[in-house]
Amino acid sequence: MIHYYSTRDPHKSLVRFEEALLKGLAPDGGLYVPDRIPRLEPDLWQRANAIAEVGVAVLWEWLKDEIPLADLEPIVRDALNFPCPLVKLSDDLYVLELFHGPTLSFKDFGARTMARLMQYFLRKRGERRIILVATSGDTGSAVADGFAGQGNIEVVLLYPKGKVSDVQERQLITQRPGVRSFAVEGTFDDCQRMVKEAFVDPELAHLPLSSANSINIGRLLPQALYYLWAIGQLHARERKPVEEVNFCVPSGNLGNLMGGVLAALMGQPVHRFIAAHNDNHFFPDFLQGKAEAYQFHPTIATLSNAMDVGSPSNFERLYTLLGAEKLRRWVWGTTVSNEATLGRMKKTYEAYGYIACPHTAVGLEAQARYRQETGDPTPLISLACAHPAKFPDAVSRALGQEPLKEEALEILYSRPTQVETIGASLSALKSHLL
Ligand SMILES: *Cc1c(COP(=O)(O)O)cnc(C)c1O
Repeated sequence: MIHYYSTRDPHKSLVRFEEALLKGLAPDGGLYVPDRIPRLEPDLWQRANAIAEVGVAVLWEWLKDEIPLADLEPIVRDALNFPCPLVKLSDDLYVLELFHGPTLSFKDFGARTMARLMQYFLRKRGERRIILVATSGDTGSAVADGFAGQGNIEVVLLYPKGKVSDVQERQLITQRPGVRSFAVEGTFDDCQRMVKEAFVDPELAHLPLSSANSINIGRLLPQALYYLWAIGQLHARERKPVEEVNFCVPSGNLGNLMGGVLAALMGQPVHRFIAAHNDNHFFPDFLQGKAEAYQFHPTIATLSNAMDVGSPSNFERLYTLLGAEKLRRWVWGTTVSNEATLGRMKKTYEAYGYIACPHTAVGLEAQARYRQETGDPTPLISLACAHPAKFPDAVSRALGQEPLKEEALEILYSRPTQVETIGASLSALKSHLL
């Protein structure tokens, strides 16, 4: 049986998956990591025809002692019910499109799976939760969509009024069962402060408040699946054994990279990871020996806003599991400016006719630098994290044209909405919660 312990617990006290999932953050403020990682045989997933098949086979290896297979299977099939294509750009460069879920970013993989796993355990326990989320973009909509209609869970979303893009706002306020959205007259930091205050307020102590941010182990495990799926796709396509592969991961909070590291530790032939960051430069600095562990900095706003994280939470997990030396050997990192991001969007379109969102472009620029610097000929898969149609302004700046209309976005604009505007104070939020 696989157990989990907190990154901050010197005694490594173990908890079950169910507890780690429902708690999110460990009581000592640390993050849960697994005490062992199952080694997987390639035949377990390489012949899969859909990512949900990989999901069932692989998650079963992790969750055997927690959920019967007959219950796990419908959870995973319902969560991962969208495609995940591997697109070939050139002989040794592929992009893995992770944006075909309902909110058009890779966050759908983690949020949808985690929501269904939580619902499963809560129903069994006869408990409910109210998930409070402060959001400035992709996470909020993926969580709202993922948890909508899960009977034992309600979602309360806070976002800074007028400070998210038009598409993002629309995704946040679309009416969904069990989801309430609040436009806060303040900044993202105000929203986060209100959430933190709510968790420690005595008058709210009787409410089953919970969070769903990317530190939850229930979001990380599903994010390992598409790395395995991609390797299987590469095998099928090249019709010859793929000795080793590199993955380039556009990164912010380092949750996506953590999923890849888990996949590799399950026994996958990953030669190198490339951590592609925007101007938020802590992790590349650390990898290059220019910053110490945990030498974080304030967040810098960029075009790839879902990666604007000055102090990535999942660093603590990576550092605990791998240590500085292994991280620096295995992961190569670089930081990509706004200008270089727009430049790479243009070059990618000109060279391959491919439209990348700004986050994906940070990755494509990083992998190009990596190749140039190292000459490493290993085939490389770069993750495409969000649909370009979510970022029409950046796309038109880079290419001089709008991205193609995306059906999922068109449908979004035809749906009814629900939102209430509130002041930037805990008392304003409280009157709605109580
Ligand atoms: C969240 C997000 C990222 C960053 O992923 P992390 O797990 O925070 O490193 C990159 N691109 C997009 C589109 C995202 O939504």
